[in-house]
Amino acid sequence: MINIIDKKNCCGCGLCASICPKHCIEMVEDDEGFVYPKVNKDLCVNCDLCNKNCPVLNCNNKNQQIPKCALAYSKDNEIRKSSSSGGLFSEIALNILKQNGIVYGASLEDESKVKHIRINNVEQLEKLKGSKYVQSEMNGIYINVKNDLENENKVLFTGTPCEIAALNSFLKKDYNNLYTCDLICHGVPSYKILKKYLNELEEKYKSNVQKVFFRNKDDGWTNFKIKVFFEDGQIYSCQANKDFYMKAFLKNVSLRPSCYDCKFSKIPRCADLTLGDYWEVEKVHPELSDDQGVSMIVINNKKGEELLNNINEDIVLQEGEELNNFIRFNPCLCGSVKPNPNREKFFNDLNKYTMKELEKKYFRDEITLKYIIKKIKRGLVKILKNRRY
Ligand SMILES: Cc1cc2nc3c(=O)[nH]c(=O)nc-3n(C[C@H](O)[C@H](O)[C@H](O)COP(=O)(O)OP(=O)(O)OC[C@H]3O[C@@H](n4cnc5c(N)ncnc54)[C@H](O)[C@@H]3O)c2cc1C
Repeated sequence: MINIIDKKNCCGCGLCASICPKHCIEMVEDDEGFVYPKVNKDLCVNCDLCNKNCPVLNCNNKNQQIPKCALAYSKDNEIRKSSSSGGLFSEIALNILKQNGIVYGASLEDESKVKHIRINNVEQLEKLKGSKYVQSEMNGIYINVKNDLENENKVLFTGTPCEIAALNSFLKKDYNNLYTCDLICHGVPSYKILKKYLNELEEKYKSNVQKVFFRNKDDGWTNFKIKVFFEDGQIYSCQANKDFYMKAFLKNVSLRPSCYDCKFSKIPRCADLTLGDYWEVEKVHPELSDDQGVSMIVINNKKGEELLNNINEDIVLQEGEELNNFIRFNPCLCGSVKPNPNREKFFNDLNKYTMKELEKKYFRDEITLKYIIKKIKRGLVKILKNRRY
């Protein structure tokens, strides 16, 4: 039976819980706020399906060829503005929904939990739009996907690379009516930190949180802000590089242990199509850089090509991009981020300090140190200049 000794070996995809014939595995949150399998040993019959199908322990990938690369963005300005990158996900999803298909993706639900949900109409697409920077709960969603596929529905399943690998492992066969789309993923932060962040904001604003936008483009794509809407109409809005939650995410303090050693951030990728941000687009195509969001697209196989061809008229597309450039500009396409050296201390301090205190302890020190180094450098330059005369 599954027994996670090293937490780096569990991505929290919940495949083990979904595949267990005795339903004796439950995904339970640990002290850091990440879910891990807990087995009811009284019910377990030691079939070992959990270990045999775990995507982390058995990395299988149907994709073998070197992928093609492209950049693109939606021609629809509204879609682009309300998406994190170039709005490619929405265009692909709309196309599938127009064919009476089903789309699966991450949605911010009650109590700020992000969960994978199934949608079958355009009105529900809003829920899946945008990056939610916390791990999505899968809650047996692979079983729903399999049912839809067996009922001959066209299905688009989207998520992080480990979630795509988990679905592929669960299904065991390549369905012609399944299309998968993964994200270039930096890693997923813990729900415990998001909860703490939102609770403290609720206390400060004296109102309940209604919704959260992790990547708001009001001040442009590169200068994105996190925006929290409260029930009484107030809005908290902060640039990502100044906000506690986003700093913890971007400084690699708050990620799941397995994200620092991701088995799926590699070429070839597991999904049919991979989407990410083309942050450095102005270096290669300054004519396409309007600060509204451009997507990096990695086309991993024929189905990926098909997804892109189907939306050809709805997007601005430039094919023939260099894979090496993509990897250079976006290292998470092919590798994991390094853990912040203070990660363990940060998690240990979570229950002891407020957000403000944690920020002072873990994030402001760096600014001070940078500031001191800058001051020393300036001082040295002055001394050297004075010596010359
Ligand atoms: C946790 C996380 C880390 C990321 N790290 C990077 C990175 O390092 N580099 C990079 O280039 N891009 C990264 N991205 C992807 C990027 O932010 C965009 O989501 C992606 O480019 C798609 O943008 P879009 O405009 O096409 O669609 P959008 O509408 O912005 O994205 C919607 C899609 O994202 C999926 N999604 C949103 N939140 C989650 C979640 N928590 N778990 C699983 N799926 C989710 C939805 O299911 C949907 O498929 C990350 C995304 C997430 C969620």
